[in-house]
Amino acid sequence: MPKHHALLSASASRRWLNCTPSAVLESHEPDTSSPFAEEGTRAHALAEKKLKAWIKSNRKTHFKADDGEMQECTDGYRDYVIEIFNGEKKKTPDAELLIEQKLDFSRWVPDGFGTGDAVIIGDDTLHIIDFKYGKGVKVSAEDNSQMLLYAAGALDVFGALYDFDKITTHIYQPRIGNVSESTITVSALEEWLDTTVKPKADLASKGDGDQRPGDWCRFCKVRAKCKARADFDIEAVKASGFDTDPNLLNKEDIESILPMLDELQSWIKDLSQYALDQALQGVHYKGFKVVEGRSNRKVVDDKGLIDALHKMGYEDDMIMTKPKLQTITALEKAVGKKMFTGIAMPYIEKPKGKPTLVPESDKRPEYSSAEDDFADDLQ
Ligand code: SF4
Repeated sequence: MPKHHALLSASASRRWLNCTPSAVLESHEPDTSSPFAEEGTRAHALAEKKLKAWIKSNRKTHFKADDGEMQECTDGYRDYVIEIFNGEKKKTPDAELLIEQKLDFSRWVPDGFGTGDAVIIGDDTLHIIDFKYGKGVKVSAEDNSQMLLYAAGALDVFGALYDFDKITTHIYQPRIGNVSESTITVSALEEWLDTTVKPKADLASKGDGDQRPGDWCRFCKVRAKCKARADFDIEAVKASGFDTDPNLLNKEDIESILPMLDELQSWIKDLSQYALDQALQGVHYKGFKVVEGRSNRKVVDDKGLIDALHKMGYEDDMIMTKPKLQTITALEKAVGKKMFTGIAMPYIEKPKGKPTLVPESDKRPEYSSAEDDFADDLQ
């Protein structure tokens, strides 16, 4: 069965709350996955298993993990959840722990739902705990709209049945030692949901409102070709107002540009990668072509090359940097380029360079992929 994706997901909520058209714009782009996302899914499944086993038997059970790090991180998460649960149990024997709880916040966001890794219903506090296995971006629970939407879902399901008046959201991100928590009262949450989330979600579900670039563009699927982002970056540089010296940038000019450099670099990288991907799929950009990028030669059979050089009378003191063979460039210098090429050819390989988009004037021939080479061979 195809996986159902809500248009307005909690995980992308910071983006669509700040830039309401983004969700509809992104919905036309293909889904992508990464080895990191797959690793995170396995870590979550393991964490879930460990907590469920603990609930069933009150024992801490071990299951197979990808590696020791995953084993330790999921143990740590399980223990963190148990500690909060036991703390709430002390306050009331009725405290409950729910794992992988579906949280429906569609009262405020069309089709809005998510899954809480762990939900603990305590005496006056409901806890929502999110296990993050990634380590690229430090996630804070403070003003975290994803967590607040999960809180909305929990409020909708449990609010009428229990007496809690505040919700504490927790981020447990063990690979960078980050544990963050934040508490909001039920009334403050309701106000945010009614006055901010609902109107923005209504706009976002239709793709209405203004595109607003900001740091939430980072994982937007259209970040490379977004006109608002391109305009924002170009205008930001233009607006820096270099009017103090007509010829050279001075300290103040550079100070006004420096804060933009990270975003400018990331935009240039996103746009270059997008253009290259498109060119590899057959799109022709006037004045540009794809060529094979540079790559470094490498010795694929050290022993064979050492023996061959010994046979030709080259001693270790000429060819070795103990205990290793010298670099190819150093060997060429020691042996002589022509001689070295004659001896070393069978032991050296030059991997295919990565495709690169360059101006058409570049001397390198147009790139052909391994599949193209194979097709040429067949013909
Ligand atoms: S790249 Fe940024 S500005 Fe453009 S649609 Fe995405 S979130 Fe909005």
